[in-house]
Amino acid sequence: MILPIVAYGDPVLRKVAEDIDPTLPEYKTLADNMFETMYQANGVGLAAPQIGKAIRLFVVDAEPMDEEKLKGFKKVFVNAHIVESKGEDWGYEEGCLSIPGIRGEVKRPETILLRYQDLDGKTYEEEFTGMAARVIQHEYDHIEGILFTDHLSPLRKKLLKGKLADISKGKNVDADYRMRFASANR
Ligand code: ZN
Repeated sequence: MILPIVAYGDPVLRKVAEDIDPTLPEYKTLADNMFETMYQANGVGLAAPQIGKAIRLFVVDAEPMDEEKLKGFKKVFVNAHIVESKGEDWGYEEGCLSIPGIRGEVKRPETILLRYQDLDGKTYEEEFTGMAARVIQHEYDHIEGILFTDHLSPLRKKLLKGKLADISKGKNVDADYRMRFASANR
């Protein structure tokens, strides 16, 4: 089932999401729906707050970004917590399905050590680096209530202010997928 994607401005995108019991069957269905929603919107990652749920679950399939290095990098991350970040920060132009039409360079650490669970409740502690680490950190930010625009320079943020305000109102939104706007619900 394709779910509407929550747009910038909805308070759910600002919540620190909570741990869940990954073995509940409802989360298997939710993860399937999130993959379907993400593919339909041509995204490489989608976090639960983006479909309106403040829980620590996100899905990624970053293979389209680098078909060699990220081949088969399709995963569900539950209850993720970054244990350690290391390496040099590097910049890359990011975008976000909740903030259509806006891109900006974000600097992030090269490598992360991540503790997380799968949908069977198995716990992993795994190191990710390069583009995989970047995609995970973007989604991880979502479950911490952080958006990529928070990382932009003060000047860039100032320049984007009007555009972001428009998105939160559903004005001039350039997205070819279904979205949900905070202002329309209140
Ligand atoms: Zn995002």
